[in-house]
Amino acid sequence: MQQFFKAMLNIILFGPPGSGKGTQAALLAEEYELKHISTGDLLRVQLEAGTPLGLEARKFMDAGALVPDEVVIEMIATVLRDFSSEVNGFIFDGFPRTVAQAEALDELMGKHQLDISKVLSLQVSEEELTQRILERGKTSGRSDDRDEATVRKRIQEYENKTAPVAAFYEAQGKLTLIEGEGNIDSITDALCVAISI
Ligand code: AMP
Repeated sequence: MQQFFKAMLNIILFGPPGSGKGTQAALLAEEYELKHISTGDLLRVQLEAGTPLGLEARKFMDAGALVPDEVVIEMIATVLRDFSSEVNGFIFDGFPRTVAQAEALDELMGKHQLDISKVLSLQVSEEELTQRILERGKTSGRSDDRDEATVRKRIQEYENKTAPVAAFYEAQGKLTLIEGEGNIDSITDALCVAISI
């Protein structure tokens, strides 16, 4: 059956922890009037509210491990259901983080006659990532940003489980690599150029 997609801009901002996804996603959300979805932020809201989901997620987050796929996929399903008819598009930040999540996202988007327009992958070296996160940990209030062993574990989880997601989107012809080191404005400019192509 042929699918008809709504003309919306749906971007995935992809990259390891500390690559600047959150900062850049917020800037792009404003520029293109997109709904910014950060699964990390959604989980932290649950955690701070002390909900059963938050308490369960905390165990994984504090250990620098990924939260189980079904938990985050359910959160995304809810956001898409609530907002897909109201917005110009979505910018996903920190999701999908596994190939199973990417497959589930394709299916969920399809249900709403949507698809992913582009996947922009921020490239930052591991040493720079660790430094940035530990620096952020001084003010972010995030316990997973403060401990070097947890930070390294998060980067390892990225290498093992999340990096393969890039190949999934490359096979769909949607992946663009963006230099993620340098000043924030020039990285935003490079992202905007990639979106406009
Ligand atoms: P972030 O704010 O994106 O750095 O995410 C913080 C933590 O939340 C991660 O280290 C994971 O424990 C969890 N998390 C966020 N997004 C996901 C996701 N898509 N899949 C699994 N765990 C996630």
